[in-house]
Amino acid sequence: MSDQHSLIIVVSGPGGVGKSTIVEELVKRDDKLWLSRSWTTRERREGELQDAYRFVTHDQFREHIAAGGFLEWTEFLGNLYGTPMPKAPEGKDIVLEIEVDGAQQVKKLHADALLLFVLPPTREEQKARLVGRGDAEQKVAARLRKAEDEEPVGKALADFVLINDDLAVTVAEMLDLIARERLARCN
Ligand code: ADP
Ligand code: 5GP
Repeated sequence: MSDQHSLIIVVSGPGGVGKSTIVEELVKRDDKLWLSRSWTTRERREGELQDAYRFVTHDQFREHIAAGGFLEWTEFLGNLYGTPMPKAPEGKDIVLEIEVDGAQQVKKLHADALLLFVLPPTREEQKARLVGRGDAEQKVAARLRKAEDEEPVGKALADFVLINDDLAVTVAEMLDLIARERLARCN
């Protein structure tokens, strides 16, 4: 970790709830935030940005595990995902957008990390967002099934649970929670 006083903000929640969209807005709106780029062995989705992840092979991922290069990593629906050891610029707070198993690992390592768990307004809306994003039918079904297991764990682990109904409201709520956390850490 580049700065031992950096706040770690973990944004977690089931697939399609809007995590990537939210964190993109957070870093646009708060220039003290630095977004970690994860590694994954999954294929890039059509239309997905080249730098959404560092897209790697299984061998590259396994080598990085062996070299102690990940803060946390997990397998999710058949692919590997991991957070490289964060190297945030001095003075920046770190944002991780990860699933619940990873969030649990980060909380164990950094008990003072702020964990924000995001829920969809309804399962139907989550499904509509996954379909709208272009996920294949099978992937949509797998992510919806996975959400049933992830949500109770995430809710129990979270410092705050937010429902991402209106994106602007969710982002404003998160920025407010982050500001409060920074203030609390100064006192
Ligand atoms: P996740 O990262 O949680 O898998 P994404 O950020 O990819 O989810 O969002 C899934 C889809 O839902 C995207 O098409 C995104 O534009 C859309 N989306 C995100 N937040 C909202 C919202 N509050 N209302 C409607 N659509 C949303
Ligand atoms: P997707 O394939 O939809 O991009 O991501 C699948 C899940 O993996 C999402 O819940 C996403 O937040 C999570 N994820 C992305 N990067 C990481 C990471 O580095 N570590 C962990 N544990 N989960 C991640």
